[in-house]
Amino acid sequence: MQTPYYYYDLTLLERTLDAACLASRPYGYCLHYAVKANADPVLLRRISARGLGADCVSGNEVERALECGFSPSSIVYAGVGKSDREIEFALRHDIFCFNCESLPEIEVIHDIACRLGKVARIAIRVNPNVDAHTHHYITTGIEENKFGVYLSDLDRVVNAVSEMPRIRLLGIHFHIGSQITDMSVFRGLCLRAREIQSRLHARGVVLPHINFGGGLGVDYEYPDEHPIPDFRAYFDTFSRFFEPAAGQQVHFELGRSLVAQCGTLIARVLYVKEGERRRFAILDAGMNDLLRPALYQAYHKIENLTSTLPALKYDVVGPICESADCFGKEVALPATRRGDLIAIRTCGAYGEVMASRYNLRDLPGTIYSEEGIFPCKI
Ligand SMILES: *Cc1c(COP(=O)(O)O)cnc(C)c1O
Repeated sequence: MQTPYYYYDLTLLERTLDAACLASRPYGYCLHYAVKANADPVLLRRISARGLGADCVSGNEVERALECGFSPSSIVYAGVGKSDREIEFALRHDIFCFNCESLPEIEVIHDIACRLGKVARIAIRVNPNVDAHTHHYITTGIEENKFGVYLSDLDRVVNAVSEMPRIRLLGIHFHIGSQITDMSVFRGLCLRAREIQSRLHARGVVLPHINFGGGLGVDYEYPDEHPIPDFRAYFDTFSRFFEPAAGQQVHFELGRSLVAQCGTLIARVLYVKEGERRRFAILDAGMNDLLRPALYQAYHKIENLTSTLPALKYDVVGPICESADCFGKEVALPATRRGDLIAIRTCGAYGEVMASRYNLRDLPGTIYSEEGIFPCKI
């Protein structure tokens, strides 16, 4: 198989889905998968077959979710910049709910619903001003972010919505950030959600649904020790600190935590270059294949699948003309040679979906395995 390619361990995906479903079931929570983390049809079909809903952030994601077996009545659709075409597409397919991020957006949805003779079900995405304490590029729930309706604006938006006959307000929605491993952040979200909900209840606004978004983190440093996130601790936190109203359905939108560990980017070493102070392992994969290190300074564990020699330190870099095209600095690897296979771990989320053709490079390929072991070891 030509490198670079994404290698997906479908057995681990299934085990991860088992764990998430098992941990949420006692509470009757409704799980959606955040398609933006990985929109690969093979993975999507596995996930829809388990009865999860889909959380989409574009019209094309809604279309992909429908193609891959998600029922329209399980699809939620978020995003600060939904276009008229995207809204019309989702309305025509009668998706479950638009998660709306501003009043101007709700007005456009209402206009389009009137024109189509439809009723749009919506939830208001509230910016709860809870700091996720994660990288600032993936923090979305504080007031300096573009996401959601600010608390100070919520009453005005709710009043305006009550005047729109073709909008049905189902609930409120949150998503405060990603790669969150500190459960006290989710506890903070629960407490804030309680306040907001009782404020709305006091005004006679009944919310049959509430959606806490996603954001549960994974262990990038020790993927073998922690291949499956602690879904039990995550859902237990919500069950302890948020008591739903009578008959209220609680929703989640998990992305990274479901798919990150099952994906690995496999690349080959093109050259080893001895610098003055550094030694470079130059791969045939670059930031166009995996953007996270360049975009977020993200750490990924890197392994040499071929060599068993004593370790040396390498800067592991790609072929692209950008200094950010670097997967790791001073990485200890067994002495590495041209042709060795390299595994970049924990790439199942926000990996393949962000691949581009920058430098007119080919898009990475994909391999799926039920075996749970890397290709060179098969
Ligand atoms: C990205 C996103 C998610 C998923 O986030 P993860 O950190 O991958 O779990 C869920 N909901 C919304 C609205 C999102 O934008």
